Amino acid sequence: MADAGFIAGSADWKIILKDACAPRLAKGRKLCYGRSANNAEKGKCIMIVDLHTHSTASDGQYTPSELVRLAKDRGLEVLALTDHDTVGGLEEAVQAGDALGLRVLRGIELSAREYRSLHVLGYGVSTAPSALTRLCAEMKDGRDQRKYRIIDFLHEKGVDISLAEVEELAGGDVIGRPHFAQVLVRHGYVSSNREAFDRYLDTRDFHRRVERPKPLAQVCVETIRAAGGKASLAHPYQIGVDTGTLEDIVRNLAGCGLDAIECFYPKHTPEQQSFYLRLAEKYGLHATGGSDFHGERVKPDVRLAAWELETDWLLE
Ligand code: AMP
Ligand code: ZN
Ligand code: FE
Ligand code: FE
Repeated sequence: MADAGFIAGSADWKIILKDACAPRLAKGRKLCYGRSANNAEKGKCIMIVDLHTHSTASDGQYTPSELVRLAKDRGLEVLALTDHDTVGGLEEAVQAGDALGLRVLRGIELSAREYRSLHVLGYGVSTAPSALTRLCAEMKDGRDQRKYRIIDFLHEKGVDISLAEVEELAGGDVIGRPHFAQVLVRHGYVSSNREAFDRYLDTRDFHRRVERPKPLAQVCVETIRAAGGKASLAHPYQIGVDTGTLEDIVRNLAGCGLDAIECFYPKHTPEQQSFYLRLAEKYGLHATGGSDFHGERVKPDVRLAAWELETDWLLE
């Protein structure tokens, strides 16, 4: 399949590269996180936040408005909606936040080409037509083509589900693997979404044959920044690399404008969290935290988080 635009490395993203990728590691930029006396002395504002959530605009269970209501009920002060490869739910979420008195950050989660699960979160992105919205359109095309390959792949494995049912369950523009997983559960092929991924949707065979086009991680960071956003490396443990390789990734992306690492994530062990915090400090990056909430039907073991984080740098 021919890659287009950003994904192939067209002139378009080279312009972004030129503008936004000058190495700019902020010397002396201080990492701030948690409720520390130090922060309080400086008048830093600590907020109760969840900076990584999904809605029906991608593969979450709840509409943006429903999600904002859940976040308000959970006692959050800042919620970032970070749907996969789309800004489609953001304006609804911001309006719902305004109505309920909850600060909603316009976010996004972009999937990068390198590794199975290298994701870059964006915060405070503009939803006006831009390189970011063009990238989202390209990624949507990639998903629209992948959905037929997923159905063929599943049929070959003896799993007889229809694309129409998956699309109906998805309800929106973005068709993601969790939608397929839920239909597999519904028809009794597997007993949980996790099993659907383990047996079908996250296997070596799946990735070899059904992969969709994705931009380089560097392009994800640069495109988020060109849309006025801040970029954070999502759930670093999911990249599945050793600590040395992860440090190489962080160093390289920091040189391209990465602002933060998602150090706080429910599945991180205390050791992983400490390592990511040390990496953030070493490379002058901030620390973000989020649950990756999708709703209990999609990820039964993940509820909204409530991290206490310094967010001045995000909200300014
Ligand atoms: P997609 O962007 O459509 O390829 O799918 C990404 C979604 O699939 C994200 O919500 C991931 O959390 C989820 N996902 C990926 N791998 C797994 C896995 N092994 N188990 C459960 N969910 C997964
Ligand atoms: Zn998802
Ligand atoms: Fe992710
Ligand atoms: Fe996510």
